[in-house]
Amino acid sequence: MPFRDLAGHRRLLELTARAAVRGSLPPSLIFAGPDGVGKRLAAISLAQLFNCLSPVAGDPDAAPDACGQCSVCRRIARGVHADVMVIEPGETGSIKVDQARAAIERSAYRPFEGRRRVVIVDDADAMEASAQNALLKTLEEPPAASTFVLVTARPDLLLPTVRSRCQRVRFAPLGPSDIAAVLMRDHGFSEESAHAAAALAEGSIGRALEGDTDAYVEARDAAVAMLETVARASNPAQRLAAARALGRDKIDRDELGRRLRLVSSMLRDLGALDAQADDRSLAHGDRKGELQRLAASFDGGRTVRAFSAVDEALAALERNGSPKIVADWLAFQV
Ligand SMILES: [Zn+2]
Repeated sequence: MPFRDLAGHRRLLELTARAAVRGSLPPSLIFAGPDGVGKRLAAISLAQLFNCLSPVAGDPDAAPDACGQCSVCRRIARGVHADVMVIEPGETGSIKVDQARAAIERSAYRPFEGRRRVVIVDDADAMEASAQNALLKTLEEPPAASTFVLVTARPDLLLPTVRSRCQRVRFAPLGPSDIAAVLMRDHGFSEESAHAAAALAEGSIGRALEGDTDAYVEARDAAVAMLETVARASNPAQRLAAARALGRDKIDRDELGRRLRLVSSMLRDLGALDAQADDRSLAHGDRKGELQRLAASFDGGRTVRAFSAVDEALAALERNGSPKIVADWLAFQV
């Protein structure tokens, strides 16, 4: 898919696309960043931009991009374009020297049909040392019409000699609202499951897809109920009711930890509302109405105190604190 369809990383992708079109993008790159944030997809988008038959020209408002529709873009997306090669670990879990040699050999020729050959090494840190050493000379001085992209979540496992020959492009974790948008668009999630899963995904679409979405939705409902109960609590009995709303009587330590992380992520949204941040920065944009009602009870100071109380509660859970005691304690602090 073209750059414009990727989630997040707007500025990074725009700079990369502009440099690619100007011819100033270094030919040996490391796309580094957490798993599941779209690094490999971005490498494919770059290959499309280089070779697209009718690329979108860049102007001051929009970065250049591939069309995503032409036969070249479509074949690159399907992995069947002669000039775009993806190397990845085989069954042994590692990338062998033979795979590296095959890529070097192919890249020595001019592109068969496109303008630029792109070699993508996915999970590049899985390259055996011999494979990395074989690539050194090519990374140092790639053939004129070739670009090498090493994709990795663990760049520090690459040999220093490989790292020093490549320009590093750093991908940050994705924001929850970007992840939620992808879950809805590409994976059939409802709005509510997408936001619940995204808030717990720690910046990775991969992680969001692995989780138990129904449980996440229920957990988020409990987190909202807890905050709403505690917001209007004026006596100890009502505070205990807030702990029960969080589920203190029926959940184990892991589940309480998950619910606390959701409370924390909602408090972050309340802080963002207080600072009048852009709606797109909200993790729980689908529940903005409830957040706004909560914001009336949570001014900046209360939100910050609550946030650090949740942190303490999470730390207590990690030290084997009883879920009931931790939930009750929190209900009196928030
Ligand atoms: Zn195209």
